[in-house]
Amino acid sequence: MTQSKHEFPIPSFPAGKLLIDGQWRDAQDNQTIDVVNPATEQVYAQIAAGTKQDVDLAVQAAQTCFESKAWQRMRPLDRGRLLERLALLVEEHADELATLEAWDNGKPFAVARHVDVQFTMDALRYHAGWASKMTGEYITLSPFANDGGIYRAYTERRPVGVVAGITPWNFPLGQAVQKIAPAIAFGCTIVLKPSEETSMTALRLGELICEAGFPDGAVNIVTGYGDPVGSSLVDHPMVRKITFTGSTATGQRILAAASGQMKRVTLELGGKSPTVVLADADMEQAIPGAAMAIFANTGQLCTAGSRLIVEESVFDEVTTGVAEFANNLSIGHAFTPDVMLGPLISQRQLDKVSGMVSAGVDAGAQVLCGGGRAANSGYFYQPTVVTNVAPEAQLNREEIFGPVVIASKLKALDQLKAAANDTEYGLGASIWTSNINKAHLLADQIDAGTVWINTHNILDTAMPFGGMKMSGLGREFGSEAINAFTEPKAVCMRLDPNKI
Ligand code: NAD
Repeated sequence: MTQSKHEFPIPSFPAGKLLIDGQWRDAQDNQTIDVVNPATEQVYAQIAAGTKQDVDLAVQAAQTCFESKAWQRMRPLDRGRLLERLALLVEEHADELATLEAWDNGKPFAVARHVDVQFTMDALRYHAGWASKMTGEYITLSPFANDGGIYRAYTERRPVGVVAGITPWNFPLGQAVQKIAPAIAFGCTIVLKPSEETSMTALRLGELICEAGFPDGAVNIVTGYGDPVGSSLVDHPMVRKITFTGSTATGQRILAAASGQMKRVTLELGGKSPTVVLADADMEQAIPGAAMAIFANTGQLCTAGSRLIVEESVFDEVTTGVAEFANNLSIGHAFTPDVMLGPLISQRQLDKVSGMVSAGVDAGAQVLCGGGRAANSGYFYQPTVVTNVAPEAQLNREEIFGPVVIASKLKALDQLKAAANDTEYGLGASIWTSNINKAHLLADQIDAGTVWINTHNILDTAMPFGGMKMSGLGREFGSEAINAFTEPKAVCMRLDPNKI
């Protein structure tokens, strides 16, 4: 564990405020939530604890903006320009935003700068281009009404209206933009509720949104707890679509609540993704690749490769290699040079990860490396490799969301389909092999929203992203984003050939 002080001062952000209708306001009852630095366990800031009344004001502002002539008549290219201007401002403030993210989430500054902030700029620019590319179809019909008319139809894509974006704490800035950018590109307005554990970069982004000249009410940010802020957004009759990233349990609650008003819902949920290493893999790539599939972002990744499935003949080589790699990862404070892993987000998360590993060990699991806290203060946990875990054990079935990988042997390739899919989740998977033929045929067999070959955790806004089974509903990114934020509308007409 590398020790260092937080020498980097906290950049300013609109502490304790909500962005509603272009104005920064206090929460209705002036309550706040303490913000804890996960590396030091110190409270160092406060955010506003929004209320149902704040949600009502924010949704009303978003609806008023959505219905305004200015928004309805804004040229698609000009919605794209808003996003481009925001991308430029994010670029100008990249180090500052990364510093804020490192303070808030604990992740290494270099990761915040080169992953989170880079993704944020890329997502803004990618979606800026989509704003002017919402096309429909022109269709000649074959109607059963044999009345001499000529029937034609065209379709157009209509923005769904006010969107609620609800996000978790592992990539706070990137996830905020993952919701805001497509909503704006496709002509919706949005109320964002960031995680109560990591709201600071979303709030600073809100200031940049105002500076970029977004119309008042187009983007509103209400910080606070899942209940009441998230639940009030889900229940609000003017919210037409919910785009949620978070746990499967919360996603299920949101889906049930949204059904009463038939709201559109996109759910990006949890995972228990397999990393499959075959005997013919290039081990110089596969071993570090399998290690970072799980340990990146301290395992707090929805697509983390948390089940390592290895062909029997290379099982010892791969697991020993991953454990050695883990032992050499430098864990520490965000601003320590060369640090690779930060802490878990909270005491609750540390307790959850430690508890699951301890219970597994009590049941006979063998720990190859790690298996405990990495420091006496801060929510640091050692990168951990565990073997000898029964398929039905909790460690193999539940999402841990920490730096813990469960390794198991694959005795024969024809067992791969069953082993990889032996989970209620279906978010990601990777296959490591030198045989490209095998790679593609095996990729077909895995039920996951994304299957990587000789890589893992590559996300790109040009590639559709989402989960199968309990990992979610719908897709975001790529051309799929159009479906997530718009409704197709058909306009059907009868032309009279006698009236030419
Ligand atoms: P969480 O479900 O506890 O919280 C996510 C968000 O939902 C937070 O903003 C929270 O305040 C809000 N919320 C809580 N209760 C709510 C309710 N009743 N109604 C509306 N909103 C509510 O998840 P978390 O602990 O913040 O994040 C970790 C989880 O997120 C993991 O399961 C992880 O796999 C998942 N995740 C998924 C993806 C993906 O794209 N599939 C990406 C990142 C994280």
